Amino acid sequence: MPYLDDNLVVFTDLDGSLLDHHSYDWQPAQEWLNTLSAAKVPVVLTTSKTAAEVAELQRKLELTEVPFIAENGALIGLPDRWQKHESSTSGHIIGAAYEDIRHVLVALRQRYDFEFRGFGDVNAQQVIDWTGLPLENAKLAMQREASEPIIWFGNSLDFSRFEKYLHQEKLALTRGGRFWHVMGADAGKGPAVKWLSDCYAERAGKPVVSIALGDGPNDIGMLNASDYAVVIRGHHDHKMPVKEGVNVFRTEQYGPEGWKEGLDHLIDR
Ligand SMILES: [Mg+2]
Repeated sequence: MPYLDDNLVVFTDLDGSLLDHHSYDWQPAQEWLNTLSAAKVPVVLTTSKTAAEVAELQRKLELTEVPFIAENGALIGLPDRWQKHESSTSGHIIGAAYEDIRHVLVALRQRYDFEFRGFGDVNAQQVIDWTGLPLENAKLAMQREASEPIIWFGNSLDFSRFEKYLHQEKLALTRGGRFWHVMGADAGKGPAVKWLSDCYAERAGKPVVSIALGDGPNDIGMLNASDYAVVIRGHHDHKMPVKEGVNVFRTEQYGPEGWKEGLDHLIDR
């Protein structure tokens, strides 16, 4: 059982995990956020959202000094006091940069007549229609750096060909709630958690003890890459298998209540 004074790092999914699935509230988790903050344990938001969207949440959660993982693991945001990168992006990209992904997508569509639309093909109103987000949030969701959400309109045979051609370009498709996400084939929440855990270990000069909390299938890579996994009860029927060797706890409660339940069970204060 991990202790608060271990070299702990907490990785957490947002929607349905730290944030309530419906209200986006996190109050049940606030006491733990305070405790972790007082113990200098970083809480790394690990999400499909963009860096621009995460920045706002980090401010509200008072986590601006902590790295974050955005765009399903394709982008790792680093706080200012960490080393600066020369690139124009807000952090470390795993896989491919947005412009390169767009370049491949446009070329494949021109060549094979594939029927799909991505965020880079449409205006904010279309993104609002697809997602139901308010205008300001839709704009933040369109500020992409390392992955492209697309909607596929073609047939399944073309889709298999599309997937094959993406693989040849070292890109891959991840299924999200509404969209398919095109990103680097080696990117994902799992590789990002591994990369950041290694960073923390190097900075501290000792191994980290990582705890990951998530509710959905796109969190499995993150849960598998951690020492302790909290599978938060989800509003879905998907199996949530976690690989052997990871210490798993499955909560009874949903969302931030489950988040609290997981840490109550796991961390010895
Ligand atoms: Mg979730």
